[in-house]
Amino acid sequence: MMPFGKCPVCDLHYHIRPDDPLNWHRNHGLEIGEPLISECYFCWKELSEYDAVKVISLPEDCPQAVEIGDTGTVLISHNSDPENLAFEVECVNENGSTKWLATLYRFNLHYVFPPKVS
Ligand SMILES: [Zn+2]
Repeated sequence: MMPFGKCPVCDLHYHIRPDDPLNWHRNHGLEIGEPLISECYFCWKELSEYDAVKVISLPEDCPQAVEIGDTGTVLISHNSDPENLAFEVECVNENGSTKWLATLYRFNLHYVFPPKVS
């Protein structure tokens, strides 16, 4: 049984490739098939300016234009409160105009891998 994790932020199930798969469940105090509750890479990764992000949830005071599933770019990271990281994110329309500019929290955002450069 391939070990897997479940993200408490976004509910994503993901595979884990441990060094010691035979004893992995026991080492984590889990039954076989039971997921490890742990943040996924997309929720956990530290975001930097110009990283691409996807909106996975909305804060209460969010501008109406912001929709779940929108992708944007981190313009500024507000690192003043490490318990509650907030980011200034801009979402751009296909024609290059700004669709919205909003302050979103880390748990509202998924990291998006940059496109592969061939
Ligand atoms: Zn997650």
